[in-house]
Amino acid sequence: MSRSTELPGRFIPFARPSIGPEEESAVVEVLRSGWLTTGSRSAEFEARFAEFVGASYAIALSSGTAGLHLALEAIGVSEGDRVVTTPYTFTATAETIRYLGADPLFVDICEESYNIDPSSAAEAVRAHNPRGIVVVHIAGEPCDMDTLTDISRNYGVALIEDAAHAFPSLTSRGYLGTIGDAGVFSFYANKPITTGEGGMVVTDDDQLAERIRIMRLHGIDRSVWDRYLTARPKSWDYDVVEAGYKYNLPDVAAAIGLAQLGRARSFLELRTAVAKRYTEAFAERDYLIPPRSTPGHAWHLYILRLRPERLRIGRDEYIERLAELGVGVSVHYKPLHHMSYYRKRYGLTPGSFPRATDRFENVMSLPIYPDLDAESVDRVVEAVLAIGDASYCGRRTT
Ligand SMILES: *Cc1c(COP(=O)(O)O)cnc(C)c1O
Repeated sequence: MSRSTELPGRFIPFARPSIGPEEESAVVEVLRSGWLTTGSRSAEFEARFAEFVGASYAIALSSGTAGLHLALEAIGVSEGDRVVTTPYTFTATAETIRYLGADPLFVDICEESYNIDPSSAAEAVRAHNPRGIVVVHIAGEPCDMDTLTDISRNYGVALIEDAAHAFPSLTSRGYLGTIGDAGVFSFYANKPITTGEGGMVVTDDDQLAERIRIMRLHGIDRSVWDRYLTARPKSWDYDVVEAGYKYNLPDVAAAIGLAQLGRARSFLELRTAVAKRYTEAFAERDYLIPPRSTPGHAWHLYILRLRPERLRIGRDEYIERLAELGVGVSVHYKPLHHMSYYRKRYGLTPGSFPRATDRFENVMSLPIYPDLDAESVDRVVEAVLAIGDASYCGRRTT
């Protein structure tokens, strides 16, 4: 056994944001400016983000969850509606449907990826006449957007992309998040770029953008920035046109976002290099199924799948042993039909979505982030192979 598996050394965390001098000085500048809440930094973050992905509008928000909520609200989801989505995701994707009194209509994932199965989605659309479809680009791997946009167009159902994992992800149809009617990004601490907490909705639709902008800040028809810093007559005046929400992104956070946006392409290159190294190292082990490397993959997560019939230990024990060797891993996802709220409300069992259940039971997510150095990547590889090789019980060749 190699030295590094005997002596774990420093613990390699599962995730870690990359924060440097650009972010630090951007925040200090805002702190000294006299304007802390939503203002010029937030407006610039929106303009630069829209330009980056090639969308007509980008609206900065306090979280990705807020973005999903407002995008669903803007497409008209309301009490009693149904919205087709995947159980293989974080609860925010489905809970925001519930915020509006509507119900998620879950369909299973694909055989060959962790994304929603388009033919199951089409079947659900035909059978249940839903208000919308929310797809999630899991790990940053693009969903089958050709088929999904066809379904959306043919049945007149709005399509929302939960692109929380998918930045930046350039496909033949443009950046993920800009292909459906609206796309939602998250800037939570462990996401591809971060503002600590934050989110962004992008859209090309004037009416959706206007609705989201108004609902983001109390249903007020003008921004605070606009009211306080323009010398118009009656600049203090405003109207409330809806019972809106408090979902704006403060300038302190937006300043971090601007710095991170400038580094997003280099972050992607670094994550892609880690994924490549992992996949090369795991390719010759028939007890491991590395993730597909689809064009445009953003590599937010590296989801490694085990073949349980070829190993004497299960996924949970594999993860425990990795922790003993100083490697932090996680699981994406424990699907929503395994969570008591959704299970009880919709009468779901593990067998309701067999692919999602099977993947959940056999996957683990390895560390993948810009500041993961080459030595740490090597240590992760060695630990994964040392544990797997020692527990192997399958054929040596496939
Ligand atoms: C992180 C995440 C969200 C929510 O984003 P927040 O910014 O934390 O609110 C939504 N969907 C998915 C798939 C996520 O991973």
